[in-house]
Amino acid sequence: MDKVVYYDVCALLILVILLVSLILRRMTKGRLNKAFLWLNVLILMTTVTDIWAVMLDNMTSGAITLKYIAHTAYLLLHSCMAAMYIVYVVIHTDTMHKFKKNKILIGLTFAPVVIITVLLAVNLGNKFIFYINEEGQYVRGQCFLVLYGAAVIGIILGIIYLVMYRKALSVRNFVALLAVYPFTIVAVLAQYFMPGLLVEMFANACGMLFVSMIVQRPEELIDVNTGLKKLGAYLTDMERIFYNEKQVTIIMVNVVNYVALKDMLGYNGINVVLRKIARQIEITNEKENAKAELYYLGNGRFQFVMERSKAENAMDVAEFMCDYLKTGISYKHMDLNIVNSICIARCPEDLKDYGSLMSFIDDEAMTKYKDCVIEFSAIRKNDFYDIMKNIDEIVERALANHSFAVYYQPIYSVKENRFASAEALLRLNDAEYGFVSPAVFIPAAEKSGAIYKIGEFVFEEVCKFISSEEFEHLGLDYIEVNMSVAQCMQSNLASQILTTIKKYNIDPKKLNLEITETAASYSQKTLMDNLITLHDAGIAFSLDDFGTGYSNMRRIVSMPFRIIKIDKSLTEVEDNPKLMVVLKNTINMIKGMNMEIVVEGVETEKLVQLFKELECEYIQGYYYSKPIPKDEFIEYCMQKR
Ligand code: C2E
Ligand code: MG
Ligand code: MG
Repeated sequence: MDKVVYYDVCALLILVILLVSLILRRMTKGRLNKAFLWLNVLILMTTVTDIWAVMLDNMTSGAITLKYIAHTAYLLLHSCMAAMYIVYVVIHTDTMHKFKKNKILIGLTFAPVVIITVLLAVNLGNKFIFYINEEGQYVRGQCFLVLYGAAVIGIILGIIYLVMYRKALSVRNFVALLAVYPFTIVAVLAQYFMPGLLVEMFANACGMLFVSMIVQRPEELIDVNTGLKKLGAYLTDMERIFYNEKQVTIIMVNVVNYVALKDMLGYNGINVVLRKIARQIEITNEKENAKAELYYLGNGRFQFVMERSKAENAMDVAEFMCDYLKTGISYKHMDLNIVNSICIARCPEDLKDYGSLMSFIDDEAMTKYKDCVIEFSAIRKNDFYDIMKNIDEIVERALANHSFAVYYQPIYSVKENRFASAEALLRLNDAEYGFVSPAVFIPAAEKSGAIYKIGEFVFEEVCKFISSEEFEHLGLDYIEVNMSVAQCMQSNLASQILTTIKKYNIDPKKLNLEITETAASYSQKTLMDNLITLHDAGIAFSLDDFGTGYSNMRRIVSMPFRIIKIDKSLTEVEDNPKLMVVLKNTINMIKGMNMEIVVEGVETEKLVQLFKELECEYIQGYYYSKPIPKDEFIEYCMQKR
């Protein structure tokens, strides 16, 4: 009986087209792409040997040696296919670390290959698998069924593995990877009952085509410009890594001046620069043998994600990239200065879940460390993102358990030579996380919306204090209360504040609200309306942290500020004569606008002296006192009176 070879030829065509398209679509990098490529090559070679063997069978009655070689090669390659597909699934589910540990699984995957190889090696002598009879025909041997047994084991194992790790896959990818099996089962059965009808390789090729179309999609995985994996792929990969409890080390390479470079070079220019960085990242990965998955997440952010066992060189990789970027990149006769910040983080030690990782890649804190390599632990505490994530719960708990406390830091009046006011600063001592800095929980609460409750609490506490008899004895003019950006955007802020003031029956002049420079530079009607209503009601305003943001001076002068608070960072003038010039002129400018000055963060007598000479109205800082609990503050003020 002649064998029908046309299906094999079709399979060959499909596989060649697939192979070419994988190469043209640059789907040759990264573990998953490589595994798919090799699987494709294996099936293609199996198909070629199948065609060769069938043609020999059909064409001539001689060529016995060639027939033995062709059939042996075909069966050998064929026996590897099921195992190779399982390896591909393992890589796809990113569970190699678990697979490697499971001896039974490894045995069941590779034992059939070994057994068939041994049987084929001795086949010439004992004809277990097949033989070529005297008429030159191919005849199945008595152990031929072993091949079917191996196929059945391979299929069952693959299906079980896919089902076991289905959560590591999207539903679409799970279905596509599973769909390969029904194709194969139908074809194997057809070929078993009709040995002349060679449809199995065709079914395999169709399966590969299906997987390629649904799963291996470059437009979803690869960034066209850099050729690295893109954000979408990163998100699925990282989610899977946490799900599989895999230990990885991540090197985050950020181009800090990305926006400035993009503005200067335009889209084409910045793309050339990003491509150069991406090439260097690939070269470094290769050179250091880091075997990392490489990503471009957009906005000048690159990542190496490497398995922990391959991560001994992480510091070398990071330092090499840092040096490369520091040296600069040349583009059209320009030497571009690439300001970078590189951070090494370990999962799950530093970032214990997907949510924490997501918060970290959005976190600007990393970019403060310029042109150097920094470890995660130097930027954030391990529980930082836990706090971010659970902030609503933490705030509720703090309000219920009274673990929030408003502290006061006295503010010294130079002119009057006494403590004239104080700033209210919130403290949190959480049962689980201990003392948490407001620099951590305030921004988190702003994001979650918990800031409104915090704001109400602080304002109420301050009003209560102002209305008390003790406060009267202290002779303080007013208390400064911090307002966050989110609070200022609240449409009912003014009415809420006025209601509380009424409730405690206090003079609005005893209050001064601090608004940060960043909040003030938002162009927001609500903020302006709030300010005007409260100002008209007699409440004064201070501009906090002046000198830290990028002020829109036009907007700032249009707001009713009574006081400008000069940030600590502008007062570090000791070794910086130029900053001294800036400071003096800033002070003159503020005075020229008839506003008063509070200098923040003054720690030394020398600075106190300096600001007295520069005729700043108020001084606040550790030199006088840290923020202290209310009772201590009352005692302090009484003593200093
Ligand atoms: P801020 O309003 O600029 O407060 C001044 C910060 O500088 C405080 O930090 C204070 O403890 C610290 N400081 C004061 N004097 C010195 C000094 O001499 N040297 C140094 N190194 N630091 C000094 P703190 O209390 O950690 O607060 C950080 C920020 O958190 C505040 O900055 C403010 O923006 C925010 N914050 C604190 N309490 C509240 C609140 O009740 N509501 C809102 N919305 N924000 C708050
Ligand atoms: Mg403040
Ligand atoms: Mg401040």
